[in-house]
Parts: sequence; C-alpha cells; structure tokens
Amino acid sequence: MKTRYSFVDETRLREFDEVFLKAGEIIRKGGLVAFPTETVYGLGANALDKAAVKKIYVAKGRPSDNPLIVHISSLPELYGVAEDVSPLALKLIDAFLPGPLTMIFKKKPIVPRETSGGLDTVAVRFPENVVARRFIRACGVPVAAPSANTSGRPSPTSAGHVLKDLNGKIDMIIDGGSSRLGLESTIVDLSRETPTLLRPGSITVDMLKNVIGELKIDETILKKPSQDLRPLAPGMKYKHYSPLCDITIIKGDTNAAESKIKELTAEALNQGKKCGIIASDSDMGLFEGCGAAVLELGSKGQPETAAAGLFAVLRRCDDLGLDCAFIRAFPEEGVGLAVMNRLKKAAGYKIIDAE
Ligand code: AMP
Ligand code: MG
Repeated sequence: MKTRYSFVDETRLREFDEVFLKAGEIIRKGGLVAFPTETVYGLGANALDKAAVKKIYVAKGRPSDNPLIVHISSLPELYGVAEDVSPLALKLIDAFLPGPLTMIFKKKPIVPRETSGGLDTVAVRFPENVVARRFIRACGVPVAAPSANTSGRPSPTSAGHVLKDLNGKIDMIIDGGSSRLGLESTIVDLSRETPTLLRPGSITVDMLKNVIGELKIDETILKKPSQDLRPLAPGMKYKHYSPLCDITIIKGDTNAAESKIKELTAEALNQGKKCGIIASDSDMGLFEGCGAAVLELGSKGQPETAAAGLFAVLRRCDDLGLDCAFIRAFPEEGVGLAVMNRLKKAAGYKIIDAE
C-alpha cells in the first residue's frame, strides 16, 4: 500500500534558489533555521554539530534529555546516521516515505549525544514537503529539528507562530504557508524487539498494522503519564501544547455535551471569566448568543480537519485573551487518536463526562 500526499509544484522552487543557498550556509556555519514541513514547522540545526544542536535547546527552552528528530532529504542518507535498518523498516519506508512518519533506530556514532538526548538511538524523518526537502538538501548535512515553538507551547503550523515564539532567537525562517497536516509526525520505535508506537499522528495505527502486522502502543498514548507510567519518548512526559487559556474537554453524546458546555460556560461567565467554545463548523451555531467566543475547528466526522487546525485554534485562545475554553472530545480512532493525544495534554487531562 503506497500512501500519496499532495505535492507543491517543485519547479516553482527554483525561483527561491537564493533563499535555500543562504539557509544552507547558515546551517553549515552552526546557525538555526525554521522551516515548513507537512506536519508542523521545524527548528533546524546541523545534526552532527554539538554546538549548533545546543542552540536549539537554548532557543526553545527545551530540556536537554529530550532528543531531536534527524531530518534527511533522500533515503541513502538514512544509512549515514542509523544502524540495523531491518526489512520491517524497509516495508514502512516503501509504504509511507517520504511522509509524516519518524522511525527510531540504533544510532551511528557520528550522531552526537546532544542530538539524541543522551540515548543510543536516533529518530529519523524523511519529510514529504518539497520546501523541507529542498532546504535539507541545500544544507548538505542531516538536520536535527524539533518543532519550532517555545517548549511547552502549541507547535507552530505557520511562519507567524514561529515568529511569535522565537523572533530574535534564530537566524532565519522559511515561510512555506500553513502546515498541511498540522500534527507532529507519527513516531515508531524500531530499535525494540516489537515495533512500538511512541507518538500517534497522521499515519494511523491501522495504516501501520496493515504494513507491518504487530505493533505495540506506548500505554501513555491512551493513559495519563505518571511516575509509574513513563512515556517511551522522553519528550512526551513534559507539559506540552499548552495555551495559557484553561482548556476543558467534554465527553458525551451530542446533546449531553452541548448542554454541559452551555452550563459550564454560563458558570465561567458568572465568575467574570472570558470564555471560549471550540466547535466544528456545523456545531458553531449551537453556541451562538451564549456569551462566549465561538472558535471554529474543522468539520464534524473529519478528524484530519481538526488535526490541521488544532494548534492554531489553541494559539488563538491566547491571542483573544480567553481565561477558559471548552471543546468536545473526538472519537479516539484513526487520526482522532492523535488529535485527542495532543488535546488531552493541552487540557492538562481535564476531561468532564457529560453523561
Ligand atoms: P518534537 O520534534 O519537538 O516534535 O519532539 C520529538 C519527539 O521525538 C520527542 O517526544 C522526543 O522525545 C521523541 N524522540 C526523538 N528521538 C527519540 C529517540 N531516540 N527515542 C525516543 N524518542 C525520541
Ligand atoms: Mg515539539
């Protein structure tokens, strides 16, 4: 099964050769460049240069035990950074790359521990976005890149989001418009005995199982992490995706959830809070006139549209100065699993059952 994603017309990129030349030079000199991908914007540095990689942690305020994903622009580059590329990995590569899938392998010694957060494994991604690939190719080195946000904030899905968080802290931003998918890549660990899903994304559990059969799922994807239940991806244990606005998720069928959201909104407004409701395009009308700002997020029954807009709407809650916002839970199936994974973290796991 080959999954295809849409491509921007690559020939138009030639108009921007100078931009990529400059970006490549910045990276080779040890600087930082933010760039678009199909998932979210990344903050890139030369993955093989310890000093450059350290600058990423400083600019983002990122804990140093949280490893970075190494981005490549062609498949042969994978063998430069990873050991033990198994037949199973080749199946995944054939099915999904280039695309929004990150794979974890045993790392080659050339990858510094600063990049791998002290681990002996390395996460590798070969993005589909042609601007990302053109940028990485111009660098001539593998590019370590986490999401280009201040640590803890919602990931950036536009150049404007990057500017808001990192203006003055990085050397360049390449603006490639809004991110098409909007959630970070699916991460599968292939360095373990059984392939294990560490982070859900647009490549879903079913899509992966169709290709490789057995797949373990890190328990913390479904349950709240704790001292006893630690995520296998170090980054997933940190406070994440958090707007300043206090988010609450409401579970339940349409009518129960609608009433609960209205009840909680009225209560919050009574307390003098500035309040928001995040709803699908067809549900927005339900909440008109209830005194809260109603913010649109995607279309009902199409979780990929909610995925694409989630981080932008969380950021918008803060731009509007909201104290609190309510949103209905999504079914945790397909891409909905990834949407709920991010949303639960954004809400600090505050979920109310309306039934
Ligand atoms: P970000 O690039 O900010 O979306 O974060 C990358 C995610 O990948 C974090 O949650 C990291 O902890 C995780 N990650 C990167 N490299 C590894 C690795 N070698 N083993 C496990 N998780 C990793
Ligand atoms: Mg991130």
